[in-house]
Amino acid sequence: MKPNPLYYRTEFLKSAPIPRDAPPDEGLEVAFAGRSNAGKSSVINTITQRKNLARTSKTPGRTQLLNFFQVNATSRLVDLPGYGYAKVPKAMQKAWGKAMEDYLRHREALKGVFLIMDIRHPLTDIDWQMADWCAHANLQLHLVLTKADKLSRGAASSTLLQVRRSVEAEGVVASTQLFSAVDRSGLEEAHSVLDHWLGF
Ligand code: GDP
Repeated sequence: MKPNPLYYRTEFLKSAPIPRDAPPDEGLEVAFAGRSNAGKSSVINTITQRKNLARTSKTPGRTQLLNFFQVNATSRLVDLPGYGYAKVPKAMQKAWGKAMEDYLRHREALKGVFLIMDIRHPLTDIDWQMADWCAHANLQLHLVLTKADKLSRGAASSTLLQVRRSVEAEGVVASTQLFSAVDRSGLEEAHSVLDHWLGF
């Protein structure tokens, strides 16, 4: 497997509150979801080889927005708002959940979701919730265990195996992989899943 340089031409397209102002619902999209600090921006930046592409999503005022990145004329990557801020008021959490569910369920262009998890804290409640929404919306799901460099090779493989077993036991259909933004391991695998979903 080789990386696909097509993703290195990805450009920031726009930020949009859900669902207003989103780009027209045509072509194909893959969304990236994950708890805040899981390493989602680093995964997007590594996949696109654009150092600060996903930083736009972190500028104040944009953290609650969907951020759209254009890969080519017909394909987009979408950075979903990070979830899991314990301090966010209940009402806001609820609004976030509703907006997420609506987008996942009704966005025709959306093909699947890359769910980014810190390998040291995989499958939290909110990750299961996201997996559940994906299943209900008939979306493909790819679990990315990132920061794999934080563990020994053996420990990382064994966590990957455990995660696979857990999702299987819960009847969740998902592919899984290890990733590291530090040493770029898993990059080819991530590209290959994107290629598959986006038809490249
Ligand atoms: P986000 O909030 O999910 O977008 O997370 P970020 O991508 O901003 O990463 C959160 C923190 O984890 C930052 O301090 C990153 O430098 C660090 N980080 C992200 N990916 C990796 C990785 O693959 N390996 C290591 N060791 N640290 C990482």
